[in-house]
Order: sequence, then C-alpha cells, then structure tokens
Amino acid sequence: MVDFELTAEQRALADTVRSFLAQQIAPDVQRCDSAGTPLPDAFAKLATLGIAGLPFPEKYGGAGSDYVTLGLVCEELEYCDTSLRTMMSVHIGLAGCGIYQWGSEEQKQRLLRPLASGEKLGAFGLTEPDAGSDVGAMRSTARRDGDSYVLNGSKIWISCATQADTFLVFAKTAPEKEKHGISAFVIERAAAGDALHTFSLHDKYGVRAGDTGGLSFNELHVPAGNRLGDEGEGFYIAMTCLENGRFTVASGATGLIRASLDASVKYAKERHTFGVEIGKHELVQEMIADMVLSYDAARLLYLRAAWLKNLGRRNTRETALAKWFATDAANRAADNAMQIHGAYGFSDEYPVARFLRNSRGSIIYEGTREIQKIMQAEYALGYRKDKPPRCELPPYKG
Ligand SMILES: Cc1cc2nc3c(=O)[nH]c(=O)nc-3n(C[C@H](O)[C@H](O)[C@H](O)COP(=O)(O)OP(=O)(O)OC[C@H]3O[C@@H](n4cnc5c(N)ncnc54)[C@H](O)[C@@H]3O)c2cc1C
Repeated sequence: MVDFELTAEQRALADTVRSFLAQQIAPDVQRCDSAGTPLPDAFAKLATLGIAGLPFPEKYGGAGSDYVTLGLVCEELEYCDTSLRTMMSVHIGLAGCGIYQWGSEEQKQRLLRPLASGEKLGAFGLTEPDAGSDVGAMRSTARRDGDSYVLNGSKIWISCATQADTFLVFAKTAPEKEKHGISAFVIERAAAGDALHTFSLHDKYGVRAGDTGGLSFNELHVPAGNRLGDEGEGFYIAMTCLENGRFTVASGATGLIRASLDASVKYAKERHTFGVEIGKHELVQEMIADMVLSYDAARLLYLRAAWLKNLGRRNTRETALAKWFATDAANRAADNAMQIHGAYGFSDEYPVARFLRNSRGSIIYEGTREIQKIMQAEYALGYRKDKPPRCELPPYKG
C-alpha cells in the first residue's frame, strides 16, 4: 500500500516553521542577501523551533521526528532562503547524521547532544582547494601522537565555517592509501584554539545571506576520542554523510521551486501587457506549468527517499536522483520566474534574482550534477553496486 497522506504532526510542524520564518526571518532576507551578510542569529532562531536535532532520538537531545518531517522542514527553510536550509544541511544532514550514524554511544552523548539540542552549530569539512569531487585527492593529514591526532591542512567552500562550533572533517592518516587512507575527526572550536583558523568567502554568486568560508589547521591536536569510525573509514563515512545531506538539499530545492512558482503566479496576475494580465499568455502559462510539474515530481522523489530512510533501507540511488532532479528543476524554475518578472526580476526589488543565484550552488555541492548523472547511469548499467556501510543510519522508531 502507498500512502500519500501526511500526519497531523508533520503538517503542524511544517505550518509552524513556515509562519515562524515568515515573521522572524523573512523580513531580513533580501537586505542581508543584497549586502552579502549572514542573517542575524539565524541558528539561534531556528533552534528555538526545536528543529536543530529534528531526526535524532530524544536520548541524544533531538526531537525524534521522522525523515518526512525533516524533508518538509527543509522545504520550508529554503522557501524562506537557501542559506537557512544550507545551515541545516550541514548541521543535521552532514555533521549531525554523520555522528549519529558512525559515533559510539559516548560520542553521541558528548558530540551529538549539543548539536541536536541547538546549543552548538555543526559544519562539515571535506572539500579542499585541490579536492572536490575527487575526494581521494585531499591533502590534509592527521598523524597519531599519543592520545591525539595532529591535523594539518585546509578546507575551502565550507558552509558555516566562521559560525560553527563543531566540525566533522576528513584528513589522511595513511596518505599512501589514497581514499582508503582517509579518516574522520570531530573538531571542537572551543578546544582547538589558534591551531584552527576559519574565514569567510566574500563576493559569492549565491547563498549571500549565509556564511561560506574555509578552515585551516596548523598542528591542530584532536583527541583520539574524536575520531569517528576506524582509521581509513573516512571516505565511506563522508559518502554516507553526503547521502543524508543530499536528502536535505533535494527537499530544500523543492521549496525553492515552490517559492519561484508562488512569486510567478502572484506577478503574472499583477502585470498586464496587451490589455490582459500576463498569466493569460500561453507562453507564460507554459513556464508556470513546468514549475507545477517540477514541484510535484521533486516532492514525490524526496518523499520516497524519506520513506526509505524511515525504514532504514538503502536509499543512495533514490536520494541522489531526488537531489539531481530537484536542484536542476529549481534552477529552471527560478530562471523562468525571472523571465516572467521581465526586467523587474533582474533587480533585487523582487526575490527571483536571489532565487536564481541561490539555485545554482546546489547543482555543485554535495555531488555535482555530473556526479549524480554518473551514479544513475552506473546503477542502470550495473556498474555500481552499493554494499551496506558498516554502520547504517538507524531507522525511524516512531
Ligand atoms: C555554496 C557552496 C557551499 C558548499 N559547502 C560545502 C561544505 O559545507 N562542505 C564541503 O566539504 N564542501 C562544500 N562545498 C564544496 C562542494 O561540495 C564542491 O564544490 C563540490 O564537491 C565540487 O567540487 P569542486 O568545486 O572542487 O569541483 P571539481 O570536482 O573540480 O569539478 C569541476 C567540474 O568537473 C566536473 N567533474 C569532476 N569530476 C568529474 C567526472 N569524473 N566526470 C565528469 N565530470 C566531472 C564537475 O562535475 C564540475 O563540473 C560547497 C560549495 C558551494 C558552492
């Protein structure tokens, strides 16, 4: 049996998040985006909603919600602004889920709980100046020194780099083994001192109301107890983190399609040409119809992935497909929204220029469009077979 009905709790939380964002954050978005400054107190505000640890069990400080709820919330976050969803993608999808999936009980209590309760903000450091899609090319190293590892290296294009308290990062403990020599570590800013340097990137094309930056480690001592998984398991840990992050990107991009659709419908009924509202022109209708199709298809794809996640079943293919489709569709929807707005869309007077800029990043991060295509083709051709990771993301217990 397939059930398309949302529960009353799922609908209620989505409604609560939507109206909270509309009142508490939306008024600042356009100004911050235009100025290129992060939204003030965004994480603290989101934490008051109790969503900082949405899918994690209450015993780890979370809300114990299911993955459908996480998807609906990400949709609402990106409907308001992509920077909010990006923050939750790295905090929950990448750092939080990584520790939840791979951490020991002690690590979940010590490292996940403060993230899930909203006390601390998490981030994820995988990408380096010379290693993006090709993770195995990373140069950061970690050498064992008694009860610690000593990290050296740098990360770039890290969301929430200057705001986060806790970083899940990757470095090579055995560089000669390439991707099989990567290990995962949790860095706590408070303990790292001057050995951790973080900075912001300016003049970004999109996500301008969010913090994107970099990290550098110089003889940074991380306790051995902050290594996640075994030595050499970092590549697999990173891939499972990306799977969870991609789910939040897919559901968020679905919200951006809806934002583009709503703005377009409103404008198409206000603007008149040739004696009629432009919504009466069939070529404008075609663009709106495409947004409607994109929204429904993107939503169904991410909800299927959520359903698999709730059951604790493998969802690498389905989540990647949802991410690829939703991010391309959001970019097309935002582009069409700008077209419908004509020259007015080309300014910051309307939100659609922001939508278009923000839609572009998610086609690049958490696996580029090309990487998603390769994955799907390899599944179809039988070249790619997923073996279960040593640690699965636990199913939703209800
Ligand atoms: C706004 C933003 C936020 C980000 N946040 C984070 C973050 O929080 N943490 C983090 O670790 N990273 C983050 N990233 C980095 C992001 O994950 C990388 O940019 C991404 O993985 C791509 O890597 P790259 O930019 O080095 O491109 P490259 O890997 O150098 O790729 C360049 C081009 O070549 C193509 N290409 C590469 N390999 C292949 C192949 N085998 N076949 C076909 N085409 C190929 C790519 O698809 C792309 O078009 C962020 C990026 C952005 C833009």
